[in-house]
Amino acid sequence: MTMLTDKQQAVAGSRGGLTRNRVLTLLFALCLLLLPALPTPEYWITLGNYIGLYSIVAIGLVLLTGVGGMTSFGQAAFVGLGAYGTAYLSTQVGLSPWLGLLAGLLVTMACAYVIGLITMRMSGHYLPLATIAWGLSLFFLFGNLDFLGKYDGLNGIPVLSLFGIELGSGRAMFYLIWAVVLLAVLAVQNLLNSRPGRAIRALKGGGVMAEAMGVNTAWMKVVIFVVAAMLACVSGFLYAHLQRAVNPTPFGLNYGIEYLFMAVVGGVGHVWGAVLGAGVLTILKDVLQGVLPKLLGANGNFEIIVFGVLLVLLLQHAREGIWPFLKKLFPAAPPVVAPEHAPALAVRPKPAAGELLLDVRAARKEFGGLVAVNDVSFQVRAGEIIGLIGPNGAGKSTTFNLVTGVLPVTRGEVRYRGEVISSLPSREIVKRGIGRTFQHVHLLPTMTVLENVAIGAHLRGDFRAQGGVSAAVLRLNRAEEEKLLFEAARQLERVGLADCMYMEAGSLALGQQRILEIARALCCDPALLLLDEPAAGLRYKEKQALAALLKKLKGEGMSVLLVEHDMDFVMNLTDRLVVMEFGTRIAEGVPEAVQKDPAVLEAYLGGVE
Ligand code: ADP
Ligand code: MG
Repeated sequence: MTMLTDKQQAVAGSRGGLTRNRVLTLLFALCLLLLPALPTPEYWITLGNYIGLYSIVAIGLVLLTGVGGMTSFGQAAFVGLGAYGTAYLSTQVGLSPWLGLLAGLLVTMACAYVIGLITMRMSGHYLPLATIAWGLSLFFLFGNLDFLGKYDGLNGIPVLSLFGIELGSGRAMFYLIWAVVLLAVLAVQNLLNSRPGRAIRALKGGGVMAEAMGVNTAWMKVVIFVVAAMLACVSGFLYAHLQRAVNPTPFGLNYGIEYLFMAVVGGVGHVWGAVLGAGVLTILKDVLQGVLPKLLGANGNFEIIVFGVLLVLLLQHAREGIWPFLKKLFPAAPPVVAPEHAPALAVRPKPAAGELLLDVRAARKEFGGLVAVNDVSFQVRAGEIIGLIGPNGAGKSTTFNLVTGVLPVTRGEVRYRGEVISSLPSREIVKRGIGRTFQHVHLLPTMTVLENVAIGAHLRGDFRAQGGVSAAVLRLNRAEEEKLLFEAARQLERVGLADCMYMEAGSLALGQQRILEIARALCCDPALLLLDEPAAGLRYKEKQALAALLKKLKGEGMSVLLVEHDMDFVMNLTDRLVVMEFGTRIAEGVPEAVQKDPAVLEAYLGGVE
């Protein structure tokens, strides 16, 4: 038996997993195809249609809530826009339903864009509250507008016809609805496995890391809010032509809550979880509506109470929903594999050796009364390794955050290659060629090492308009993906982490996670690397390897600003040291001189004997 390397195994496993997953998807599609053709009871077909309609909305919520970390109770209102759009235009204006779909999508896009723009920049509970307000107001608007038929709604919506085929029956609509479900699953999966998708997946951790890699997180949030709203709108369009009548009831806030419930029950982090959640809840509701009145001997919406109890139990015992349990029956999703070869990405022109790169001039940061960085000045020239050292709490990380735009300066300025950058957000600073790592590693633990590193190449993709979302959804980004993943693999090889490429980032030792962050920062194509305590948590051998790596990078023309605690580590590595204590620069110079400086000895050892 031949031994396979990790990489070969991952590639082989990926191919196997891919084919198995394709077979399973095809089987699922075949079942869907057969269901209406067999003598399935009409009732089941209707149930299937509703599950499909709900799934489409819930898939949008997986993207928005599960992956993006934003909660919306207002999806039912977007369903209503899709339904009323086509209902009004086809019954009152006499337009083709497909034009009604287009109009509904445009209105939805505009509404979601405006709501998104206003709320996504706020934090915390504003978005859920705003979506509740939006859901309620649209519901009452539908019910109060004369031309929408008030609470009676609109009747006589025409049958959809597609390629000359009339979709008059529930069975015919079943095919269309489930085709849309499968397309939505595919589209969202395509999106998530792309450059913008990785940026979306990076949103949940708070966005500081994503911004430092060049992601416009506020815009990315608006984009996924719009995508989720458009999926809801399509569901509403299909609903209107299935029912052939609309009224405001199914677009109320309680339905908005139910959609969210479906996504949570199914598994809010998984696209298929949306379909599962829609299926389980729709069937459960149906069964309970039949059984509970008989048991209790009275009519009423008792299923709501059962749902509430179930949700509490689920949130206590299975936060991830039920999809993870079902997923065990399927082969593991194959890892995204880097290609053997791909064209190189464009690189920035690099500064000449000795050019003044970073010029920190009397930078100051106050947190309330605490002066964390007290008028600190220093410079970094191209090709140098500068160490920023000092005891804990000296203000080193805060200085890093001032340079990289994570925090605004209170006073003073930071210049990079002559340009004042201290008023720029971090995504603009990385664009200019400053890459960074974090003292407390920021990575996506369930994503592979390769994909984590590829986030660093966010700004180096081909598709810039809309963040490349439409290209990703339509899978027009294959060439871009190959180039980005190849670059990520190349940087992983550069830092000596190629063997772990297909492991989950969270399974790495802390020291390796720091090296991963260096590879990710290198993917930004920086001229200046800012490393915040890269050697912390490394063993002696690993520290030596890191020092060798940094020297190699320096040899290739890279400049490095390095925060470090360990004096021995910086002594043989750095060209100059800047020493900080209590926010103030207390010494600067070549390592040998700094080492003997009384002020430094005082700070480090608590005084000279
Ligand atoms: P170092 O990286 O040198 O250990 P830091 O830059 O992390 O030090 O912290 C410098 C000082 O600023 C510490 O006293 C710390 O408690 C304080 N500090 C850092 N960040 C914040 C913040 N966001 N809000 C308030 N105080 C902060
Ligand atoms: Mg620090």
